[in-house]
Amino acid sequence: MKTLDKLSTTIENYLSLMYVLEGDKEPVIGVRLAELLNVTPPTVTNTLKRMVRDGLITMDRTGTRLTKSGKQSARTVLRRHMLTEWMMARMLPWSKLHQEAHNLEHAISSEVETALFEEMGHPQTCPHGNPLPGCEGAVSSWVPLTQTSPNDVVIIKRIHELAEYNLELMTFFEGKGLIPGAEAIVREVLPFNQTVTLDIRGEIVTLGFASANHVFIEPGPGTP
Ligand SMILES: [Zn+2]
Ligand SMILES: [Zn+2]
Repeated sequence: MKTLDKLSTTIENYLSLMYVLEGDKEPVIGVRLAELLNVTPPTVTNTLKRMVRDGLITMDRTGTRLTKSGKQSARTVLRRHMLTEWMMARMLPWSKLHQEAHNLEHAISSEVETALFEEMGHPQTCPHGNPLPGCEGAVSSWVPLTQTSPNDVVIIKRIHELAEYNLELMTFFEGKGLIPGAEAIVREVLPFNQTVTLDIRGEIVTLGFASANHVFIEPGPGTP
């Protein structure tokens, strides 16, 4: 069995992504990983074989599953990723934190991890509102934008970790002020059109359901 400090950057990236997908009860299959990690399916297959060999995952026809040790390593990687995002939050645009953290997180030691956690005031989520491993309960009452109704006043709480992988989408969200803490009024929810329209401080923003499903809200003070 390998310890975390001997895992490669590639393996660490796979582990944290698989942890997120499993947390969503999404089947973890090769093509999905290839798409999210921006690599070819044969590359994914090779890496998955190495991970099986190292006891990090099991694999069958339905997909992959993290083993106990795989899950433990994944939690550490994801926690360091999120703390690294916080570390850079005051210096870089919010939309770029995820990618930049991905480059740095592999160098974070457990000592730095603990220091960051203290320095940041024991955060339960990353700057995008995603829960640190073990803090899932902190976000469980937030619902996707697609489940709101016209005239609801809502507070944006979370942009899902998988959306963070999409820089164009994150830049769009940031440009429109659609970030955790922002208040919005739901203007329209049109299932036949697959769109949600929001009013954010007077600016009208329309999202497709695919994007809106990645935005989680808490009912605001004005909602009955
Ligand atoms: Zn992230
Ligand atoms: Zn994040």
